Amino acid sequence: MKTFTFTRPDDAPDAIAAAAQATTAQQGAEVRFIAGGTTLVDLMKLRVETPSQLVDINRLPLDKIEALPGGGLKIGATVRNSDLANDAAVKRDYSVLSQAILAGASAQLRNMATTAGNLLQRTRCVYFRDPAMPCNKREPGSGCPAITGANRMLAVLGTSEQCIATNPSDMCVAMAALEATVHITGPRGARAVAMADFHLLPGDTPQRETVLEPGDLITHVELPPPRAGSKHAYLKLRDRASYEFALASAAVVLEITNGTVTRARIALGGVGTKPWRSPEAEAALADRPADRAHFRQAAEAAMREAKPQSENRFKIELARRCLTHALETAAKS
Ligand SMILES: Cc1cc2nc3c(=O)[nH]c(=O)nc-3n(C[C@H](O)[C@H](O)[C@H](O)COP(=O)(O)OP(=O)(O)OC[C@H]3O[C@@H](n4cnc5c(N)ncnc54)[C@H](O)[C@@H]3O)c2cc1C
Ligand code: SF4
Repeated sequence: MKTFTFTRPDDAPDAIAAAAQATTAQQGAEVRFIAGGTTLVDLMKLRVETPSQLVDINRLPLDKIEALPGGGLKIGATVRNSDLANDAAVKRDYSVLSQAILAGASAQLRNMATTAGNLLQRTRCVYFRDPAMPCNKREPGSGCPAITGANRMLAVLGTSEQCIATNPSDMCVAMAALEATVHITGPRGARAVAMADFHLLPGDTPQRETVLEPGDLITHVELPPPRAGSKHAYLKLRDRASYEFALASAAVVLEITNGTVTRARIALGGVGTKPWRSPEAEAALADRPADRAHFRQAAEAAMREAKPQSENRFKIELARRCLTHALETAAKS
C-alpha cells in the first residue's frame, strides 16, 4: 500500500485526481483520503476496507475555524473534533455542536478525529465489521443478517429491506439541527450540499452512504449565522456513561417567545440510518406552548414512522423520552 502526503493547497488537485481513480468514493475504493485515521485504520485492520493507496490530507490548510463575513462559521475539514468542541465561538453560539462532540468517543479519539472524518464514519453494525459475514453494505447483494440477527443497536427510522444500519455520529446530529452545509471539491468542481441531503438512505444501495463521488474531497463545513437567543441541548442515551455510541440521542435548537415556541430545529441520533432531522417534530412544535405536553407530542410525531426490528423496539419509546427531555432542558436553559 502506498501513502502520499499533500502539504500545499496546490497539491489538492493532484490528490483529487489520484482519488478519482477509485471505483466509488466509499466502500471498495482503491484510493482513499486519510485524516485522523480513527475510522479508516480500524476498518483496514479488520480487512473491511482494503485501499491500495492512502492520500494523507493532514498538511492541507484545512484546519481552521473562521468567522464568515455574513456571521456564520467556516469549519475546515481537518479541524480536530476536540478543537471544534472547545472553540469559544462554537461553545457560545452553537453549543449543541460542542455538547454533541463531547458526548462522543474519548478525549484521545477526539484529539485525532476530524470534521470530515466524522461526517464519513461508518456504521458499527457488527456484521459490517466482520468480513466472515454477509453484509449488503460491505458486499452488495450478499444479504443482511442483522434483520433476523443482532439488531439491538440498529435503526428504526429510514431502514430498507437491504440494510437497517444506524449512522453512529453524534456531531452530525447537531450539524443537522444547525442546518450546516458541506462543501466539496472534486473532478467536477466545487459544490455545496445541505447536511440534510449529504447522507443517503440505504434503499437498494446501502453501499452508498453519502453523495460523494470518486475523488471528492470535503474542504469545509459552514454553519449559518447563530440565531439570537436560541436555546440548545444535546442529550445522548447509551449503555454506559462514556466511550459508547448512542441508543438514542437528540439535538435541539429552540426559539421561545413569551412561552411559545417560535422556531424549532430537531435531529435524532442512534435511531436512524442517517443523522435524522425531524420536520415532523419541528412542525408539531411551531407556535405551540413550550411545555412538557407539547414536547411529548413533538416526540410522538418524530417517531411516528418508526419500524422496529426484533431486538430494538425499546428504542422507539427511548427516543421519545430522549427528545422530550432534551426539549425541556433546552427550554429551561
Ligand atoms: C472506539 C471508538 C469510539 C467512538 N465513539 C464515537 C462516539 O461515541 N460518537 C461518535 O460520533 N463517533 C465515535 N467514534 C467515531 C469517531 O468520531 C470517528 O472515527 C472519527 O470522527 C473519524 O474521523 P477521522 O478524521 O479519524 O477519519 P478517518 O478515519 O481519517 O477517515 C474516515 C473516512 O473519511 C474519509 N475522509 C476523511 N477526510 C476526508 C475529506 N476531507 N474528504 C473526503 N473524505 C475524507 C476517509 O477516506 C475515510 O473513508 C468512535 C471511534 C472509535 C474508534
Ligand atoms: S444492517 Fe446494513 S451494515 Fe448491518 S449487516 Fe445489514 S446490510 Fe450490513
